[in-house]
Amino acid sequence: MKGPNGLGKPVRRVVIAGGGTAGWMAAACIAKVLGKRLDIKLVESDEIGTVGVGEATIPTLLNFHHLLEINEQEFMAETKATFKLGISFENWRNVNEDYIHSFGLTGTDHWTAGFQHFWHKGRERGLAGDYGDYCLELRAAQENKFAHLPQNGRNFGMNYAYHLDASAYARYLRRFSERFGVERVEGKIVDVTASALTGHIRSITLDSGVDIEGDLFIDCTGFRGLLIGQALGVEYEDWSEWLFNDSAAALQTASVGDAIPLTRSIAHPFGWQWRIPLQHRVGNGIVFSSRYVAEDEAIQALLGNVEGEALMKPRVIKFTPGQRKQVWKGNVVAVGLSSGFLEPIESTSIHLIQRSIIRLMQMFPTNGIAQTDIDEFNRQAAMEVEHIRDFIILHYKVNNRIDAPYWMDARNMAVPKSLQHRIDLFRETGRVFRIPNELFAENSWIQVMLGQGIMPLRHHQTADLMGDEELSHFLGGIKGQVDRTVAGLPPHQAYVERYCAAP
Ligand code: FAD
Repeated sequence: MKGPNGLGKPVRRVVIAGGGTAGWMAAACIAKVLGKRLDIKLVESDEIGTVGVGEATIPTLLNFHHLLEINEQEFMAETKATFKLGISFENWRNVNEDYIHSFGLTGTDHWTAGFQHFWHKGRERGLAGDYGDYCLELRAAQENKFAHLPQNGRNFGMNYAYHLDASAYARYLRRFSERFGVERVEGKIVDVTASALTGHIRSITLDSGVDIEGDLFIDCTGFRGLLIGQALGVEYEDWSEWLFNDSAAALQTASVGDAIPLTRSIAHPFGWQWRIPLQHRVGNGIVFSSRYVAEDEAIQALLGNVEGEALMKPRVIKFTPGQRKQVWKGNVVAVGLSSGFLEPIESTSIHLIQRSIIRLMQMFPTNGIAQTDIDEFNRQAAMEVEHIRDFIILHYKVNNRIDAPYWMDARNMAVPKSLQHRIDLFRETGRVFRIPNELFAENSWIQVMLGQGIMPLRHHQTADLMGDEELSHFLGGIKGQVDRTVAGLPPHQAYVERYCAAP
């Protein structure tokens, strides 16, 4: 029912269904930013538990923590976190061929042509090293080093993210949220009551018989999508024609050496395997397509390729790659796995959680829910995830592997036009343009396109204006600065130990 302002009723009672990473991130942010005006309850079920994975992040998480005024040392100590400078892609382009997609810039910003054009000219003239030689984060990762480097008085001189213990992170955010007034309710949601008139959800019922009423519901129930899918019937768009993986097996092992500041992503003939080094253990898992391999075989491949003693039995997780057709419907906003999931490569899911929460803050329906806000929210969410989808498909589409049908089929598949255009443009001209508001910047696209095996045919004419001596001086200057900085960095493991010892 609409009020005199054309809106629904004011929102005072927020109910968050589910307490995984999504639920507690939502609770923490809403409570910190708007807590004084709202009554916030979070319902979770210890019996059901969380998906228990999602331990690699990207640098945008620092912005989220900045907003929450989280103390980094305390957060890292409590979540047993390490620093992450990028992802090592092993056997992806071809068996025994590796590359790193790192955070940060490669080379310098140039106003007419990107650094890749100068590097490309340098390669042709025999004056340039590997593309990664000009990236501080990549070189530091290769040397297993890390430090916070000051830039403009802030600690963002080196672009980094974290590897973190997902369960410890949820616990950490729970304590944070409770300090800001969030009430946690333990129990299993067994029923949902909606208004026959508006279709809005009125309350959820727990197995204890307790009803919890709300004005706005945030569905963080994971793959179940209890409110958005089961109660409101919002359909799911299936993207498995481009993203073949639909299963994973996760396994935690004891650490056997120093934690490296890289997520390792090791390709197999039917998928890929992750290794995420934390302070106290290593997170491992294998992501695969059930169309190409039997579950047992995938698990054996995982077990045969971990270091350190297994701390649990492998846990299988099934998923459908894709996205809800609407992530906000009526008075339900889906955040996290309930809204969709592509696959773990490139660690974008926690980022998307954070983006949904920030977007909700920007459009928070304090004075009532407006359909225009819902439409805009859904439009932005769809666009954002489609860009990420294209970037992820790129990793599969462009490969030179001839050893397995999985990789050959990926190479031969038709991809979205938006992606095909970017691949063609880069191959022919070396040009890449970031679409406004898309997550991955030019340097990410370039690193992955080069890494997966596309070498542009040409470079921008600006690079030709430089003679060999000038170009050599230009490239050498950048490389020299990167090398000197890396030489002065401490080992990553020692830095983490020192940093987390004194929160
Ligand atoms: P969940 O963790 O599943 O939480 C759901 C919550 O809802 C739980 O608290 C549960 O108890 C509750 N719940 C469900 N049903 C009920 C009910 N009936 N009653 C009461 N409570 C209920 N993301 C990254 O960013 N980086 C990664 O490296 C990464 N790796 C991944 C690897 C795999 C194999 C998978 C599958 C995902 C990965 N993700 C990753 C995604 C990431 O795990 C999720 O985005 C993140 O954990 C958030 O999950 P969630 O909170 O939406 O769901």
